Amino acid sequence: MRLLLVEDDVMVASGIKLGLTDAGYAVDWVGSGERAEEVLKTEVFDLAIIDIGLPNMDGLELTRRLRRPEVASRAMPVLILTARDALQDRVRGLDMGADDYMIKPFELPELLARLRALLRRSQAATSAVLSFGPIELDTANRRASANRDGQSVNIELGPREWTVMEYLLIHAPKPASKDKLLQALTGWDKEITPNAVEVYISRLRGKLEPHGIALRSIRGFGYRLEIADVPPA
Ligand code: CA
Repeated sequence: MRLLLVEDDVMVASGIKLGLTDAGYAVDWVGSGERAEEVLKTEVFDLAIIDIGLPNMDGLELTRRLRRPEVASRAMPVLILTARDALQDRVRGLDMGADDYMIKPFELPELLARLRALLRRSQAATSAVLSFGPIELDTANRRASANRDGQSVNIELGPREWTVMEYLLIHAPKPASKDKLLQALTGWDKEITPNAVEVYISRLRGKLEPHGIALRSIRGFGYRLEIADVPPA
């Protein structure tokens, strides 16, 4: 799960980011509405946490802009953060398309509970099955499978293999860049090296090739899913 945190207060942001990271989310943090809007045009997030009190473009304006179809192509849940006395802000935030709000200061367990509820709802609403050739990724049930002679064969994927596979399938038949795959794996933290992408790609190759799917390297760019020329017998 990849979350975008939009908060200009460094202390608050690093506290939230730490708590969410500990809870197993990949968190990318930006300090302004302008930067958030930019990032959301090219990156995919499962949820955004937006502080209303931001410099220049505030969180309400950002929320309003996010709900324009050309910015967020799918229904990404938005949770806004507001000050205790700002009832009007909360009402306006919900009117502008926010899905929930938290009043600052808040306890981390409550934020986590709200996030889980929002993510459950959005996943139920978009329970997409991604597919390419015989391969299917059921994102609601987190099950990968291949269709063979009318039979559905389970493919076991580790969490990071799943992340890479999901990214490849979302973009197929277009290639996915190695940089973007690395970002999908890590958020923007640098704990993972570019070599890790190659490791997961090579594991996926081993799991996909028996089903007639090739993962072609595109030199200097990344990888593309392809139907193999000669499917195995
Ligand atoms: Ca703020």
